[in-house]
Amino acid sequence: MPEAKETVLEINLGNLAHNYRFLRSKTDKEAKFLSVVKAHAYGSDSVEIAKKLEELGTDYFAVAYVEEGIRLRENGISKPILVLHPQPSHFEEIIEHCLEPNLYSQKTLESFVSLAERLNQKNYPVHIKLNTGLNRLGFDQSEIPRVFETIKNTNSIKIASVFSHLAASEDWQEREFTLSQIDLFRKMTWQLIENLDYEPLLHICNTSGVINYPKAAFSMVRTGIGLYGYSNDKTIDPHLKPVGKLKTIISQIRKLDPGASVGYNRAFKTEKESKIATLPIGHADGINRIYGKQKAGVFVNGKYAPIVGNVCMDIIMIDVTGIDCEEGDEVIIFGGPQHPVDFARAGGTISYELITGIQRRVTRKIIPE
Ligand SMILES: *Cc1c(COP(=O)(O)O)cnc(C)c1O
Repeated sequence: MPEAKETVLEINLGNLAHNYRFLRSKTDKEAKFLSVVKAHAYGSDSVEIAKKLEELGTDYFAVAYVEEGIRLRENGISKPILVLHPQPSHFEEIIEHCLEPNLYSQKTLESFVSLAERLNQKNYPVHIKLNTGLNRLGFDQSEIPRVFETIKNTNSIKIASVFSHLAASEDWQEREFTLSQIDLFRKMTWQLIENLDYEPLLHICNTSGVINYPKAAFSMVRTGIGLYGYSNDKTIDPHLKPVGKLKTIISQIRKLDPGASVGYNRAFKTEKESKIATLPIGHADGINRIYGKQKAGVFVNGKYAPIVGNVCMDIIMIDVTGIDCEEGDEVIIFGGPQHPVDFARAGGTISYELITGIQRRVTRKIIPE
């Protein structure tokens, strides 16, 4: 099928393998490795990414929602899949597809147990989320005795892991808070598991946790953003390779006299004779209006070209004055000469939002290792 336009997100599996090996080298040898592949594997392609990670030896996967886990199962992924944010209305599908729920409240715990009992499940693997200060999902310390009671009184479920999530693992100024979260996690897990006759996995570190708090690996780490090539740390970024590279081409080039305006609301006005190129990508593809008005730019034949005027739905205009280029030439938005983190920062956002926001109408192209 011909591509509707020439905008492509290349997904480099060799770079994924490099990042995986780097992060594993930073993780305690005894700890298991969970790969977070939620949100289409951070905007790339969850099936292709998960297949590669399975081949590389990841122990576990996590997705946010049940349908993301079902998609992996339907495409042959066989490692355990933790569903981070399920709702009781999807619990039957969880069991049907051998997914493992995060149970984060008394309501989700009791509702899963009653379903598991009704379906005659024995030792169905579930994960218990503890709130240690992020105040998002999870049980508070005061609820632990009741959680223990519920677990003790059924053999329909088995605690595969107990986990928590750090609020500011990338922020050195919040180091004390992070250490207090790790400490509270240790106390709370002990309270919960000391009277169990088996040992669940314990995990609290995301990517920045792996990098900044290596002693808190417990028995598993959960990394997302690092696998895709970003670390939230300028000194670590050079060791990682962005998996995604967003490219397009020049549709048209126009020469303008000084004083001409470009695009909607005439948001850019030329001060001198200018050469403006039009690209087939816009805010409906995930390049939001925050990148317009010369906040961010792209690369054409190795040279920086700022995005001028307002970003349109399907089009952006760039200033290529003084750049040797022609219609049809390749344009690299991020992942080439420009680190995606720098592109995101230029627009006032973070890598996570940029890469998960690239819309599905942008063709994904897998580059094998
Ligand atoms: C998304 C997510 C992660 C991954 O975090 P990164 O910073 O991308 O490594 C880990 N744990 C939970 C609970 C998450 O929601």
